[in-house]
Amino acid sequence: TIVIEARSVTFSFGETPALRGASIAVDAGEILAIMGPSGSGKSTLLHCLAGILVPDSGEILFDGRRVDAMTETERSSLRRDRFGFVFQFGQLVPELTAAENVALPLLLSGVRRTEALRKAYGWFERLGLDGMEQRRSGELSGGQAQRVALARGLVAKPEVLFADEPTGALDSLTGEQVMNLLVAAAREQGITVILVTHEPRVAAYADREVIVRDGRVNLPERIAS
Ligand code: ADP
Ligand code: ADP
Repeated sequence: TIVIEARSVTFSFGETPALRGASIAVDAGEILAIMGPSGSGKSTLLHCLAGILVPDSGEILFDGRRVDAMTETERSSLRRDRFGFVFQFGQLVPELTAAENVALPLLLSGVRRTEALRKAYGWFERLGLDGMEQRRSGELSGGQAQRVALARGLVAKPEVLFADEPTGALDSLTGEQVMNLLVAAAREQGITVILVTHEPRVAAYADREVIVRDGRVNLPERIAS
């Protein structure tokens, strides 16, 4: 079953076309890697699928609903309640503790603080972060911070996890640890993962790879040029 889909999506930043008719359908529980050269439109496609950007034309469907036709409020609820996010540079709040950062999505959903922190704490051991709960996130190493970011992306049990270069700031060994944890957690919870990466070693963790070129997905070489 297809859980999320882009149909002939176009998107421009002012005069700069980023997507020129991109289509992709992602199965429930699938781990999909979006590859492609820098500037080809990978992040823009991810942001359209995630309801962060609204396409200029084309459709985004999630669970049978037209995301592109939703209001800003509806898209924001969708992101909060059903999606999780992990970005390249963690984007943790440095003044908060690691556990508070993980708890944030739950707090934003109205879960009470004690309950949100209890759930947040539950992620630390399995991500190899024992004892890091009370550290300010600004004091964590890159690999620790990215595992905290992963916990934050997963804590609210999203249906789809969007990851944009989740290992981009890490050395390759640390990146592999993060990917192993990401894939294990996603499989265990049946979470669909859409991952943007330019690293073949990272894409190798996915069930399927697609290539974005010139704002389109997987076009044959001959047409893409
Ligand atoms: P990728 O993720 O494959 O590197 P992006 O989706 O980030 O590609 O970018 C696609 C195109 O859109 C590029 O030409 C890029 O320069 C442009 N672009 C991306 N974000 C912006 C922005 N905020 N403002 C203007 N142009 C942008
Ligand atoms: P990525 O690694 O995902 O391709 P980039 O380094 O291209 O990301 O872009 C980082 C940020 O800068 C993104 O938020 C993107 O939207 C923005 N950006 C990318 N290209 C441009 C551009 N030409 N003009 C303005 N902002 C851009």
